[in-house]
Parts: sequence; C-alpha cells; structure tokens
Amino acid sequence: MYHRVLPSLPTGLDYVQPGMFVTVETFRRHANLLKKRFEVVSLAEIFSRLHTGKSVAGCCAITFDDGWLDNFSHAFGVLEESNLPATVFLASGFIGSNNCFWPEQLSFHLRQSGINKEGMQGGIYEKLSNEVPPTADEAVYLDNAIMALKNWSPKERDELLASFHASAKSPAPPRLLMNWDEVLTMHQSGLVDFGSHTANHIILDQVPLDMAREEIVHSRDEIEAHLGVPVTLFAYPNGNYNASLRKIVTDSGYIGAVTTKSGWISRNKNLFSLPRIGLHEDVCNTRARFYARLILQKF
Ligand SMILES: [Zn+2]
Repeated sequence: MYHRVLPSLPTGLDYVQPGMFVTVETFRRHANLLKKRFEVVSLAEIFSRLHTGKSVAGCCAITFDDGWLDNFSHAFGVLEESNLPATVFLASGFIGSNNCFWPEQLSFHLRQSGINKEGMQGGIYEKLSNEVPPTADEAVYLDNAIMALKNWSPKERDELLASFHASAKSPAPPRLLMNWDEVLTMHQSGLVDFGSHTANHIILDQVPLDMAREEIVHSRDEIEAHLGVPVTLFAYPNGNYNASLRKIVTDSGYIGAVTTKSGWISRNKNLFSLPRIGLHEDVCNTRARFYARLILQKF
C-alpha cells in the first residue's frame, strides 16, 4: 500500500506526513525488488484467485490510495518501465478538482501565510495559536498543527481553512490530485486499474450508514461513468470499517475490499477486509528495511 511518490524528500513547510510517501528512487528500488521476489499481479487477479480457491502463494499486488497527481506524474513512469500492474483507489469527488485533503490545505496555507506571522490573529486563529506553540522548526510546527486539528470538529477545521483562503496572501492550493484525463491515460495503458475509496474520503465508521452507503455506491458509479468499465474493488478510507460497512460493500456489488491493517493474505481471510502492508519512505528506504517491513510487518 502506497500513497504518494515524490521526486525528492520534502523539506520544511513542503512537509508531507512521513506515512504518506516514498521517493521515486525508493519506489523504483521497490519495483525492482518486488519483480525479483514475487509474481506481481493486479489486485483484481488476487481477488479472482481467492474467489475461485486458487493459490495466491508468491503473489503480490501494488496499490495506491487517494488518487494523488504524483501517481500519474511519478509512479506511472516507474510502473511502465518495470511493466508492473497496480490498482489506484480514487476518492472520486476530488478527481478533477483543485480540492485536496485538509492536512495538505493547512500545509499550503501556513506556507503562504508564514508561521506565527501577523494577519493570523483573533477568531479561529486564536484557537490554533493557543494549541500549537511556536517553534523554529517548520516541519515540527506543521506536524503539531495537523495533530491538533485532528481533534477539531470538521466545522472548526473548515472555518480555519476558509479564513486562510479569504486572506489575499493565501490563494488556492495547486492541484494535488489527478484529473480524469490522467486517470484515463493510466487506465488505457492496461497496467493500472482503479477502485473506489469513497467520493469524499469519508471515515465511514464516523457517519450514519445511509451516508456511508451513498459514498460507497456513488464513488463506484462515478468512476465507472468515466472509465466505462466495471469498478469492483474498494478501499476503506483510513482503513476504518466494521461488520455493517463490510456488508454494505458486499451488497453493493464489489468483489473485494482492502483495509490498512498490516498483514499477508491467505485463502481464509475475509475478502471484504483484506490486509495490506503500508510502504513509506521512513520505514523502507533501504533494501534491508524493505524486506524487514514485508516479512515482519514492523520497523
Ligand atoms: Zn485515503
């Protein structure tokens, strides 16, 4: 399980959460190692084998969550040069828009406005400065800010982002997620297929089941309308699921779903909550750490 693939290590306020990325160099190394050690197949092929009782021994599948633009601009080239299949799970409502997830918006606005600078006083900014102490290290500040905002209500987060947005110093962030042309280009290569990751990247166990169902079904319909092929795979945002959500995904016609729970897959695993192994720069930037991560699912 990957998220973003970046051309170089982010620094300072270019901060990207450590669990969210690998560099292109690391991803290329992983691609070569996976190719050497595994039969790399599509995730749909894994599900097909599991559904028909065939062995998945020695197989692996590469997945990306969310639909980041860098999947197209940086990961796709590596997949093409190594001829490796992958599945990208799209938060379909963000595709083709300039919207991005709130941690990235926060990072952008703080970079634009400067940290602890004038113009960030009163109102909702007061709450931010009360909860996040000033620090010289911009990456540490941003990490603390993201941690603090996780405990804010969505309404408070929206209010802060809207305040940033309204200030002349802070225009709209650049597009960080793919558009439908880019999705279509990857799809037409035959190497990349697409699954659903809800429409609005909703943490499904935090909303009423009706809303969860709408997110699960609408996202699939939207991707199918753009690609003209059935969308059969689902990934739970943030990995949050429960028995009721699993039933909705099953009843909606998907053939399988994946979580963020770490682990290997086997024939006795529930096909609507398969584990994955998260791979990101801070835990697997060398060959030894990559193997340790795959084998032990820790470090
Ligand atoms: Zn996600």
